[in-house]
Amino acid sequence: MIQAARSGKQNIAEGVAASSTNAETEIRLVNVAKASLKELLTDFEDYLRTRHLTQWEPKGKEITWLRNFARDHADSAPYLAIAEQRNDEVVANMAIALLKQEDYLLFRQLAALEKQYKESGDIRGRMKPAAKAAAAKNRDAAMKEAANHGVKCPKCGETMVDGTTSKDGVLDYKWRCAKCGVEVKTNPLDMALVRRERRRKVMAVKRDFGY
Ligand SMILES: [Zn+2]
Repeated sequence: MIQAARSGKQNIAEGVAASSTNAETEIRLVNVAKASLKELLTDFEDYLRTRHLTQWEPKGKEITWLRNFARDHADSAPYLAIAEQRNDEVVANMAIALLKQEDYLLFRQLAALEKQYKESGDIRGRMKPAAKAAAAKNRDAAMKEAANHGVKCPKCGETMVDGTTSKDGVLDYKWRCAKCGVEVKTNPLDMALVRRERRRKVMAVKRDFGY
């Protein structure tokens, strides 16, 4: 049961991580997540049945209340707070209701992914030229953003570039605006931190885009 719950969550996370590079992988992982969560749902239903506990009516007032509550509560804390005060029958029913909701959301996610996939790629996950060009553009934009680190020009708001210069081995640390030429001095320590952060971001972009 715990394994199914972990697998469900993990496959959604991995599917999302794969989404920028491979639609086929993402669809496969979301399908695995859906199957795992279905398994968990069945386990909760078995739990109620084998202990002669009552399963909530599909459109009963408890489920209606929970669905409305779920609209405004995306994090786990309020559910855990409720669960701590209720018996196992209520907790299992809450889990079933939320898992059904999740199953429906993943179903819609899959439908959207498959539609998108049909429009942009072939069955082996190779992208059509237009989609490939769009992906390359996204990658280049992400790379540029990561490399510039997003320091904004105080005058025009443009992203500034690292304008550090070296004269006789002495570094002059600064950011420079490519648009209006404004220069902002930075101290070496800030610069070192920024450069480290920038390297980290560039690595992340390379990893996400698989190159
Ligand atoms: Zn500027």
